[in-house]
Amino acid sequence: MFDRSNELGAWDRDHLFHPATEAGAHTRGEIQTRVISGGKGVYITDKSGRTFLDAFAGLFCVNVGYGRQKIAEAIAKQAKELAYYHAFGDYGTEAPITLSKMIIDRAPAGMSRVYFGLSGSDANETNIKLAWYYNNVLGRPGKKKIISRWRGYHGSTVMTGSLTGLELYHKAFDLPRTPILHTEAPYYFRRPDTTMNGEQFAQACVDMLEDLILAEGADTIAAFIGEPIQGAGGIIPPPTGYWSKVQSLLKKYDILLIADEVVSGFGRLGRMFGSDHYDIRPDLITISKGLTSSYAPLSGVIVSDKVWQVLVKGSDELGTIGHGWTCSAHPICAAAAIANLELIDEMDLVSNAHDTGAYLRSALAEALGNHENVGEVRGDGLMAAVEFVEDRDNRIFFDASKKVGEQVAAALLERGVIGRAMPQGDILGLAPPLCLTRHEADIIVESTLKAVDAV
Ligand code: PMP
Repeated sequence: MFDRSNELGAWDRDHLFHPATEAGAHTRGEIQTRVISGGKGVYITDKSGRTFLDAFAGLFCVNVGYGRQKIAEAIAKQAKELAYYHAFGDYGTEAPITLSKMIIDRAPAGMSRVYFGLSGSDANETNIKLAWYYNNVLGRPGKKKIISRWRGYHGSTVMTGSLTGLELYHKAFDLPRTPILHTEAPYYFRRPDTTMNGEQFAQACVDMLEDLILAEGADTIAAFIGEPIQGAGGIIPPPTGYWSKVQSLLKKYDILLIADEVVSGFGRLGRMFGSDHYDIRPDLITISKGLTSSYAPLSGVIVSDKVWQVLVKGSDELGTIGHGWTCSAHPICAAAAIANLELIDEMDLVSNAHDTGAYLRSALAEALGNHENVGEVRGDGLMAAVEFVEDRDNRIFFDASKKVGEQVAAALLERGVIGRAMPQGDILGLAPPLCLTRHEADIIVESTLKAVDAV
């Protein structure tokens, strides 16, 4: 951290508008930016030279870990050869073509094409437009609403901010609500009726979804979007049977399924895709983060053959599909992604996420599962959450003003480990790079236990 007299600190305070920031506190210097200047493996270093174990992989995105020379070299090579050419119409460059083949080879069954963007948000915008276009081509212009879930996170643009089911991202923006509906999150720990088991609760969620579909009219609903495991909303794995029940319902009402795999894609859950892990057969898949491990900004929509056939029909009837950004299929970002996917294979990171993830979660449960202020330790693959409660037996939550989750994350940071306080509840999220070792997992668990006790 730097102090007020520091020049960089002054520039930061006076000129950089940080994403998701408390603007007032930042501008007055009450919160100060920790400037990160280096990284290697699961560790990052700040400008003062302090090192931290990054147990959140940036924003759950640096899957391969920091400092991978192979990706840096691929970026440099592409930049020297050809930094940019577009992919509109009958132009293209080599790297995104190769990458599209690599993604389809790794994707769940039935996938056909990849549309490249630059952020998870823009990829979800693409998904919404494709779902609308799809229904127009099929002669169903009234089938346009999109259902998402409370606590889902799908982006921060006008439409995807609206899809996102977290108050923080809605407050005071007047986002359009009309085409977007929200249904219950499959949040077992917070189920209203605690006598329900996982399967019963999954059925209750699906019943609520069906009620919503029937109330709105199935002929008005284009798509359902969900993360295989809810991420930013609190790291919430689906209860047993949830996805198979949701899928049967969507099939019954001819509603497209969009799997938002921005976090779960490329190994996070111990399978290449979360859809394979939970046996989901989506029509469209959103990817970003782990696609390049965020060494360069890149996202994509993986389009199933079923949707692709309709897009082809539409284009034959209507002409060019008018949707594209200047930097869609950017060669430098695609080169980074190719090297990143190769590294994931070479380092066997998907199996490591499975094995070390199971180790981390069981060690966390052992260390904290019986703590009087821990309501639940949950997760899947290399994603874990610890949810804090005031009274464990009666499931009484802390008053939000106490900011217990944030206090624990701060206490953890003091001990040299970065976790993340998730919004809406006192939840500590952990999602380290997929190269995590058992020794590093032990450090995370020991430090978390100390941080919890300290708070
Ligand atoms: N979908 C999910 C599931 C995400 O977690 C995120 C980002 N946290 C997004 C979409 C949006 O991605 P981006 O921030 O790159 O726009």
